[in-house]
Amino acid sequence: ATPTSIMVGTGKAAENGILFKGGEHLERTHQLNAIVLDKTGTITKGKPEVTDFTGDKEALQLLASAEKGSEHPLAGAIVAYATENEIDFVDVDEFHAIPGHGIEAKIAGKQVLVGNRKLMNDHQIDIKANEDKLVEYETNGKTAMLIAIEGEFRGIVAVADTIKETAPQAIRELKEQGLEVIMLTGDNERTAQAIGKQVGIDKVIAGVLPEEKADKVKEIQAQGKKVAMVGDGVNDAPALVTADIGIAIGTGTEVAIEAADVTILGGELLLIPKAIRISHATIRNIR
Ligand code: ADP
Ligand code: MG
Repeated sequence: ATPTSIMVGTGKAAENGILFKGGEHLERTHQLNAIVLDKTGTITKGKPEVTDFTGDKEALQLLASAEKGSEHPLAGAIVAYATENEIDFVDVDEFHAIPGHGIEAKIAGKQVLVGNRKLMNDHQIDIKANEDKLVEYETNGKTAMLIAIEGEFRGIVAVADTIKETAPQAIRELKEQGLEVIMLTGDNERTAQAIGKQVGIDKVIAGVLPEEKADKVKEIQAQGKKVAMVGDGVNDAPALVTADIGIAIGTGTEVAIEAADVTILGGELLLIPKAIRISHATIRNIR
């Protein structure tokens, strides 16, 4: 590989908003045959909105007050919804985020839990009567969270995040380039499949805890694949490092950008197949 042609390739990429940290990453991008994409903030816009809420006013007040302490995009949606509904936020005495599950808070002596089935099961909260409703939300691509106060179920809050407009085209192009395309998410299987359907991804790995994302990448590598991982969040950093090529999507966190080999400015997914095209053109010229 001549250094000059690599420089021309990375320069051309940079002009398009694709920042390679070094020329060797351009060569490795040329060899990719699988790509794993995070769902929230990568395939979707990462700006979820509350679409449904089944609880009472007190539940909303405690739920939203508790979520104020969370940096998760789901929390932002809930806080915005409560604000629109002119809910007064109350002081939170204790707050814990439980990655991949939800949150736990103590407010005015009451235990408040917000999160998925796993969180409710861990606290022995009976949610069987709500299964049909949960399934209905999830089949529509929504993320449904359950609320429990003092160990009792108090409502469901459902949130929807829209896919990026260019996601279906970007995924089509990646497939045409011969890559196996996989979605990886901490969200539940049904929601993930619904979003996958909207963008043309049928291989979905769901319910993955943040610390397991890197292991999933390793499993795909163990099948003999050269894997790219695309992500935006702090959660994605270990997987970005593990992958043969880590791609940070530009609207994401510093941590993700630092962990990545390539940064895509502005979050435009079409720049990923473009980066691959540039790598092929560059490496072919070298040979
Ligand atoms: P993603 O891969 O979509 O970023 P996460 O691993 O961050 O997923 O979260 C997985 C699941 O954990 C969410 O779908 C949600 O059910 C639950 N969860 C995470 N954070 C929160 C929160 N702040 N409030 C309620 N539920 C949460
Ligand atoms: Mg994410």
